[in-house]
Amino acid sequence: MKQKTLEGKTLSPGLAIGTAFIYRDVLKTPDEFYDIDEDQVDQEIRRFDGAVEHVAGLLTELAASVEKEMNDSMSGVFDAHSIILQDASLGNEVREKIRNELVSAASAVRAVFRRWERRFKAMDAEVSRQKADDMRDLSRRLIHSLAGIRSHALEKLPAGSVLVANRLLPSDTIVLGRKKAAGAILEKGGTGSHAALFAREIGLPCVAGLDGLVNKVAGDGTVLVDADRGVVVLDPDESTRSAYEKKRSAHTQAFSRAKKDAAKSAVTQDGTRIAVLANVGCPEDTANAVDNGAEGVGLYRTERLYLDKSRPPDCEALLEELRATLLPAAELPVYVRLLDAGADKPLPFMDTSREANPALGKRGIRYLFDAPELLSTQLKALLRLSTEFNLHIIVPMVTLPSEMERVRSLLAEEAEQLNITTLPKLGAMIETPAAALGAEAMSGPADFFSLGTNDLTQYVFATDRENPSVDHYFKDAHPAIFRLIRMVRQDLPDMDISVCGELAGYPEHVEKILRCGIRTLSTAPALIPRIKETIRNIRL
Ligand code: PEP
Ligand code: MG
Repeated sequence: MKQKTLEGKTLSPGLAIGTAFIYRDVLKTPDEFYDIDEDQVDQEIRRFDGAVEHVAGLLTELAASVEKEMNDSMSGVFDAHSIILQDASLGNEVREKIRNELVSAASAVRAVFRRWERRFKAMDAEVSRQKADDMRDLSRRLIHSLAGIRSHALEKLPAGSVLVANRLLPSDTIVLGRKKAAGAILEKGGTGSHAALFAREIGLPCVAGLDGLVNKVAGDGTVLVDADRGVVVLDPDESTRSAYEKKRSAHTQAFSRAKKDAAKSAVTQDGTRIAVLANVGCPEDTANAVDNGAEGVGLYRTERLYLDKSRPPDCEALLEELRATLLPAAELPVYVRLLDAGADKPLPFMDTSREANPALGKRGIRYLFDAPELLSTQLKALLRLSTEFNLHIIVPMVTLPSEMERVRSLLAEEAEQLNITTLPKLGAMIETPAAALGAEAMSGPADFFSLGTNDLTQYVFATDRENPSVDHYFKDAHPAIFRLIRMVRQDLPDMDISVCGELAGYPEHVEKILRCGIRTLSTAPALIPRIKETIRNIRL
């Protein structure tokens, strides 16, 4: 097959080669939804019956494994799905539809299950609304099965393959994090999106902005990803492969060189010491960060502790997970952010349906004030953790000093109940224009600032960081952003300020950040050796 080159944009740098692993959302791909002729009716009915049998088997397996691993009532959900699935009248409705309307099994399933979903949704009782969700889940499983796709596609991703997908949702990254993909290529994904920063966090080379990609790649084809240049080569020929191997070996050497000195501190040519910390989300990140010379955890994004749960963890469970992630950095300063949910980071148990403009709505600390139980559980767990770690707490999406005051007083109340007399430092994410422009007032109730250039860019440029169609407005290295950074620094020369947005991980922009007067950076673990090396070559 002739090689094909596609050009996109870099979400996370690096090089990779591997077999393509295609991840489709079946409900959005038309392949399974088609009209049929009369002589295909029996075949489609047989396909439907086969899918029912397959999904029933899957549900039994799931119920058994959930019961064993989680030991709670979750397995009941799968048992209930089995019962719905075996319901004779539902099956008959699907068969009738195939026969009378001459449509494919998947089309019939989608229509019948949708009708039931709507009926349940229209009923008032909570239990009926849950049934509506059950119907959607089941139709998805059946259509997956009809399309020949078995289980959550990413669970099956073989190590070393290149993931090919339309886009990555935060919940997908949970599964992906445990798998060792070589790289990822996406149809859609903004430079400031969470898929992008997740990829950078785990050092996964990733290119996005490749229109129609999923239908262009052959399932078992070889994909070469040059994420440094935003280029993807499908079915590379011999000469492309050998050029790639050369580049990869140069890369590996450069990384080893930077890694050799990673444990040493980063001092500029003229003797200014810069602290380089890590952005982490799970225990592997922190272990990797320390190994790469991180001088602490500058930003622990706690969202991942909530993304795969149907209800929030209680204080004990939360404490255990936080501790596990921070343990590799036990002797170092750690900055843990309160849950930053909402907008681009919706959670399974969050009702976000009512907001027309979620990025400007109840996200971050605004959401937490609306969910006092959730906030108080986090404060309790963090206070307990502060007796073991050099812990700092970061408040996300702050716009007003009064929000910091409110968190501070809640923290003091919780500490009193726990008999903890030394409170951890409490700081604000400076990631909204109001917080940056009002930094002086914000410094009253805040002990430190973490400059989040990702959201700051989103709000300064009025551009949704998750929307690829406006990605060309997402300019996180624009003079406007540097001007704000410099201004915050000049307004508060003695404040502890770090930059923890993605900007801190671009070698080409490090000097400009330092010239704004910033002396602490926090970035993805995989990027730390290179950033430290870059700093050592700078003369301020
Ligand atoms: C930021 O907004 O720059 C930031 C560090 O937070 P997040 O990317 O998690 O929103
Ligand atoms: Mg942010």
